[in-house]
Amino acid sequence: MKGFDYLGVNTLEFDVEKCVGCGMCLTVCPHAVFTRSDAGVKGAKVTLDKPAKCMECGACAINCPVAAITVKPGVGCASAILHSWITGEEASCDCSGGGCC
Ligand code: SF4
Ligand code: SF4
Repeated sequence: MKGFDYLGVNTLEFDVEKCVGCGMCLTVCPHAVFTRSDAGVKGAKVTLDKPAKCMECGACAINCPVAAITVKPGVGCASAILHSWITGEEASCDCSGGGCC
């Protein structure tokens, strides 16, 4: 799934003001959605760099110590697409994207 974009339609939200730069989201995210350009600076905030790559697994939100990240795992277009791949059923979610996700 490397290189796959989820069309930018997902439930991921990031509050940069809350971020304390711990780096946990960088460690746990399987798709490198967050990045930090100041890698050598302890406590430097991260950037939501590739939001369309988010597959809504929820790992970042669970591990963020200051609740700077919110995401609803298992809902939205990304989840619908993954479910479709696994089951072979047509992708379907509750968004207004015309049923094509
Ligand atoms: S929900 Fe998962 S894929 Fe999305 S940004 Fe967080 S860790 Fe990465
Ligand atoms: S886990 Fe939270 S506090 Fe830590 S770098 Fe990521 S967004 Fe910032």
